[in-house]
Amino acid sequence: MIDPTLRPSAGFAAEKRLLAWYDANKRALPWRGSSDPWAVWVSETMLQQTRVETVLDYYGPFMKRFPTPAALAKAPLDDALKAWEGLGYYSRIRNLKSAAERVAASGAYPRTATQWALLPGVGPYTAAALASIVAGEPEPVADGNVVRVVARLRAERLDPHDPRDRAASADWLRPALLRTGDPARFNQAVMELGETVCIPGPPRCEACPLAGACRGRATGRPDDFPKKRPPKELPERRFAAFVVRDAKGRPLLFRRPADGLLAGLWELPMVAVRHSPSVADARRALDSLGLAADELRPLGDIRHDFTHFRQILHLWDAVGGPRPSVRRADRRYADPATLPVATASRRALEFASAARSAH
Ligand code: SF4
Repeated sequence: MIDPTLRPSAGFAAEKRLLAWYDANKRALPWRGSSDPWAVWVSETMLQQTRVETVLDYYGPFMKRFPTPAALAKAPLDDALKAWEGLGYYSRIRNLKSAAERVAASGAYPRTATQWALLPGVGPYTAAALASIVAGEPEPVADGNVVRVVARLRAERLDPHDPRDRAASADWLRPALLRTGDPARFNQAVMELGETVCIPGPPRCEACPLAGACRGRATGRPDDFPKKRPPKELPERRFAAFVVRDAKGRPLLFRRPADGLLAGLWELPMVAVRHSPSVADARRALDSLGLAADELRPLGDIRHDFTHFRQILHLWDAVGGPRPSVRRADRRYADPATLPVATASRRALEFASAARSAH
């Protein structure tokens, strides 16, 4: 935790340098400078746990497809998931859609951080960012990037994952934010500093407007801060996954349940297994799905990391044999381009297609 007796004491000089640096160096991002609540809301939602470079590929097409909360509210869930496909953390788009439905129904956006935080998927950080950027509410933001900047400025081993250290970092920044009288610019300046200069790993102190006031830099080892967590060993979950195609070459896809991990996305038929399956194991797994094939050919393994586990798909081409006609809403032969498909299954299908054309 930050020592609560510590407060910035450099008067206006540090804030002024920070804002001047921001004005001169900020990246030209499509949502930057907008006071349209929807534009800011979508960008802040996409940016949760996701790098700016990745978000740039999604933001424009998403805003074109859903230019208002009402457009997202009335779209089918599959369309929303499709626009988010590959961005990960799919609870974000499901929450954004439910929240857009509420805003569209009420006809008005929230204004304060407290009101924003009542919407699904809007946590304290996003609420503060929205209220400050859209309505100028003097609410400091503190995501992982901002905690890193504060930890280094204070030379304290704060934990960016600890909500208490996030709240303490926001509190520590509050007097400086108030002194500027420009919450939107101040918050965006601190975030920009964390994303482009005070970056994870060795920071670029030579380019930093706050270098003269930074205790972390004065120690000579600024990247000792913030606190680092040891890398996690991800537990593995293995699956036998099957490429079963109909006469038109379209793969059979199953829809995941409406709740839980990857809710509502489509994926290859798969069964949890303990080890890399033999042909006999794979055939039993295929049988258990009510499917059959004349021949099962092993294609290889696909690994995909989630936050809490590593998924390993042992991929099999199910060649020949009867193809079930599908009458269930959650099973379909389909062109994967037309459905929101989970990333591991999409990679598996690309892998299978490449293997097929190599033969
Ligand atoms: S001087 Fe270096 S460590 Fe300190 S805030 Fe700036 S970039 Fe980060």
